[in-house]
Amino acid sequence: MELTNISEIRPLLERHGFTFSKSLGQNFLINRDVPVKIAEGSGVTADSVVLEIGPGIGCLTKELAKRAKKVIAVEIDRRLIPVLKETLSEFDNVEIINGDIMELDLCSLNEKYGKLTVAANLPYYITTPIIMRLLESGFDYDSITVMVQKEVARRFSASAGSKEYGAVTAAIAYRTVPKTLFTVSAGNFIPAPKVDSAVVRLLKAEPEVKAENERLMFSLIKAGFGQRRKTFVNAVSELGYGKEEFARLLEASGISPAVRAEKLSANDFARLSNVISSHK
Ligand code: SAM
Repeated sequence: MELTNISEIRPLLERHGFTFSKSLGQNFLINRDVPVKIAEGSGVTADSVVLEIGPGIGCLTKELAKRAKKVIAVEIDRRLIPVLKETLSEFDNVEIINGDIMELDLCSLNEKYGKLTVAANLPYYITTPIIMRLLESGFDYDSITVMVQKEVARRFSASAGSKEYGAVTAAIAYRTVPKTLFTVSAGNFIPAPKVDSAVVRLLKAEPEVKAENERLMFSLIKAGFGQRRKTFVNAVSELGYGKEEFARLLEASGISPAVRAEKLSANDFARLSNVISSHK
């Protein structure tokens, strides 16, 4: 079955009584070349164990399964599970998990399979939380290749201080080197989303400045950008730091106490968290 061909998809979905859910970000690919290019761009090899987020009806899953040792596909919508069982029946290296990627114990996958490769056409309503979770949770991966909205792809590699720079940018810069592989216009999906998309590969890399306490560093990043209009000193008060105390810690890290989080690079956040750790 050609899983990107509308005239094959529609009867399949009708037979299973499936209708698209906007709130679950269900926009399925209808151009055969795109899942092939994502699978190729993800760097998956015959030794790879792949985590796919949101397989839908399985068009990307199939391309990954052809190339990888194993694919673990996590789909939240239980209506799609019988569809996936049918469309992927020829593969014995695909495990379908009906669940929410935000709830899944990612580290238990590492215990079972070692390092994983992530590939996905992500649901757009939850792109940033998913990326933050993958990067923050201690989950071990070699690369994360994802299709996201084009404007979100720009945020992934934005420079500190720019309008697009955010918590996710700092987290990505700390853990990976991002690279945009190609763009995909809205007409390549059903239903067509309002905006174009891009496929980005985040290749795992060692940070220039390593944070001794990464949990602390991520909490600083999130608090700082949670209230980005405030100065960093004011934004982190929710973490329990007094203003004067935190201003001193910033100065000890070589950062102006008047700074806003959006001006700080991943290296700055790591350096600051190390100074805080050493003062405790
Ligand atoms: N991979 C398919 C494709 O490329 O055509 C579908 C991609 S569609 C953009 C996103 C998929 O993610 C949908 O199948 C949706 O049901 C699923 N999804 C949404 N939220 C999810 C979550 N929290 N955890 C796992 N899957 C989710």
